[in-house]
Amino acid sequence: MRILVVEDEKKIAEFVRKGLKAEGYAVDVALDGEQGRILAGTGAYDLVILDLRLPKMDGLTLCRTLRNAKFAGPILMLTARDTVKDKVLGLDSGADDYLTKPFDFEELVARVRALLRPRGAAEPTRLQAGDLVLDLLAHTAERASRPVPLTAKEFSLLEYLVRNAGRVVSRAMIAEHVWDIHFDSFTNVIDVSINHLRAKVDRDFPVKLIQTVRGRGYVLKA
Ligand code: CA
Repeated sequence: MRILVVEDEKKIAEFVRKGLKAEGYAVDVALDGEQGRILAGTGAYDLVILDLRLPKMDGLTLCRTLRNAKFAGPILMLTARDTVKDKVLGLDSGADDYLTKPFDFEELVARVRALLRPRGAAEPTRLQAGDLVLDLLAHTAERASRPVPLTAKEFSLLEYLVRNAGRVVSRAMIAEHVWDIHFDSFTNVIDVSINHLRAKVDRDFPVKLIQTVRGRGYVLKA
C-alpha cells in the first residue's frame, strides 16, 4: 500500500512518513499543494493524507481537485483547527476522514488502516495461502504452524504477494506498492528481498510458494 502525505510542516511530514514506513507502508511526501496535486495525479497512491493549510494550493481546493480528477482512494484530512465548520468543509470537499493536530500516531495508523479496508468489509485479520498464514494485526507469519520471522518490509512484500496469490506481479508493481517512489529500478533490491523471503518461507518446505515467472515477475502459488 502506497500513501502520499501532503504536509508543509517538515517535522510533521517526516514524523508521519517514518512512522507509516515502519508500519510497512510505502510513503512519499509533498511539501505543498501543487506538488501534492502532481504526485497524486500519477495514480500511484492508495491513500492521501492531506493537511488543510498548505502553500500554493490549500487542502480543501486540492481535495476537490483530486475528486474532480476522479481520484477514488481515501483522503484523510489533517488540520490544526477543530471546529465543526472545518470538519464539514473538509468532508464536503471529498475527504473521508478528519484528524485534528496534534494527534497520536496510533490514532493516525488506526484511521489509515480503517480507510484502506475494502468498503463495507470487515477488516480481515488473517490472510491465508495454502499452509501460509499472515496475521495482519500482529504482523506475523506462520507456515505449517511454525513462525516465520520477517522484517517489516519482508512482511509487506509477502502480504502483497499473498493478496495477489495466483496472479503474476511484476517488479514494477512490487516497487510501486511496497517500495517508495525513489525506488531505483536498476537496483536488485526486490530480487534480494524475494530471495530473503524465500529462504524464510520456502527453504524448509517441499512446496515452494514463491515462484519466478521469467521475464514477468513473481507469483505466489498455494
Ligand atoms: Ca500546514
